[in-house]
Amino acid sequence: MSLPPPGENQTYCTVSVLEAGFVDVPMAQIVDTAPADEMSRFPCLAFLLKHSSRPDTFVFDLGTRKDWETALAPSLVAMVKKWYAVEVPQDVVDSLKKGGLEPADVTHACVSHVHFDHQGDPRVFTSATIIAGAGSRALLTPGYPADPNAHFHSDLFPERRTRYVSPDDPEMVSIGPFAKALDYYGDGSLYIVDAPGHIPGHLSLLARTSPDGAWVFLAADAAHDWRLLTGEAGVADSAHFGCAHRDKATATKTIAQIRALAELPRVRVMLSHDVPWYDKNKGGGAFWPGSLESF
Ligand SMILES: [Zn+2]
Repeated sequence: MSLPPPGENQTYCTVSVLEAGFVDVPMAQIVDTAPADEMSRFPCLAFLLKHSSRPDTFVFDLGTRKDWETALAPSLVAMVKKWYAVEVPQDVVDSLKKGGLEPADVTHACVSHVHFDHQGDPRVFTSATIIAGAGSRALLTPGYPADPNAHFHSDLFPERRTRYVSPDDPEMVSIGPFAKALDYYGDGSLYIVDAPGHIPGHLSLLARTSPDGAWVFLAADAAHDWRLLTGEAGVADSAHFGCAHRDKATATKTIAQIRALAELPRVRVMLSHDVPWYDKNKGGGAFWPGSLESF
């Protein structure tokens, strides 16, 4: 298993990290080794990808919105308050502005999945093509408010400028350990990866970060904790806390694929809620207008 070698004049992406809120999470929802009372403060990380030869500004994940308490569907707000504590000192728009980018400057906004700490507010990106997994569409149908108990608004994504990526799309290719990925620009610089199991429509991103063979994999919520990738812990699944994944068996398979990818040379793997990475790097040069160093 390997990743495609760079071509001549290989294009790539420069990746910057964006801070987009914090969620305190009971770890017994995440790893099967956690005591019932352990909480962890998860950063919600989003990413800005700038293509080496195109003027595009591609944002991956939109984090948590500041007005989540009033903007999200009531049943979702109740669920969030039951389990989590949320704080959004800086949302994805604030983080983009720190480097001089306005939401209207964003040309592509990809939402890995529709969970509240990833969906942000896609509509503020008024010029962007919104990209989401086809599976997420069913979660918005009929959606709130037609279904008053639905977690997600039916109009979360602006219909006319949203592109739903499906594993059944004919242009899907296999890359590394993954069976279904979309070579988004058609030049091998950025792949939108079908990474199933967490909730329907979950997408990850695989991007080249140099012209000479370095990559980053943005896992989103395919894995919430590094111990799931190292094998030190398994996916939590208990009567009280439930399971973080809708389809645990498929999520476990996706985690195994990411583990195989992470073993390849020059591949950096980033999680949306990458606590150890954040603790080491917060406020540092990886955050926009700075950028992640290529491996
Ligand atoms: Zn999630």
